[in-house]
Amino acid sequence: MSLASYRKKRDFRGTSEPEGGSSSDPGGHRFVIQEHDASSHHYDFRLEVDGVLKSWAVPKGPSTAPSDKRLAVPTEDHPLDYIDFEGVIPEGEYGAGPVIVWDAGTWEDLKTDDDGNPVPLSEQLADGHATFRLHGEKISGGYALIRTDGGDDGDERWLLIKMDDDEADARQKPTRTEPKSVKSGRTIDEVREQDGQ
Ligand code: MN
Repeated sequence: MSLASYRKKRDFRGTSEPEGGSSSDPGGHRFVIQEHDASSHHYDFRLEVDGVLKSWAVPKGPSTAPSDKRLAVPTEDHPLDYIDFEGVIPEGEYGAGPVIVWDAGTWEDLKTDDDGNPVPLSEQLADGHATFRLHGEKISGGYALIRTDGGDDGDERWLLIKMDDDEADARQKPTRTEPKSVKSGRTIDEVREQDGQ
C-alpha cells in the first residue's frame, strides 16, 4: 500500500525508474542520497525502513556542520529497487532530470528506551524525532531528522541536522567537493549528457 503514491505519479512506459516488486526484506538498514537535478536541484535522502525507502527531498543536501539545519521535505515512499537508480528521467515524466547515487551505505539506530533497547526507526519517525548513525562513503556519523510541525496535511516539514560527534566538521562541504556518483564515478552533468536522449 505504501508504494501506491509512488506508482500513481509515474508512467513506467516512459521512465526507467523501477516499478518496485512486492517482495522486500523488512530488516535491511541501507540508505542512499541521490542528487537529482529536477525542476529544482535537490538531494533525495532515503532510509530503508520496513521494506521501503522513507524519503525526503533536501534542497541543499546534507551538511557535516551541526550548526546547519537543512530543510527536508518528505516525499512518497520509494521501492527498495530505487536504491541504486541512476540515470535520466525523461522530459514530461514526473521528476524529469538526471539522478546520481551521490552517497550510499548503512544506518544504525542511536535511540534506546529506558531499558536500553533500541527504538525502531519507524517508531522514531512516527514520533517526528529520529536519530541514527550513517555509514556512507562521504557522509558518516550521527544525524537527526526532526519534524517541525504537526504534519496533518501536505505541508509537513523536517530538518536534517548533523549531530555534534567525531564526524562533525564545519569545514567540509561534501556536496561541493565530492560531486561524483559513488556508483559510477560520474557527475550529474556527465549522466545528463551520456544517458539523456
Ligand atoms: Mn527527487
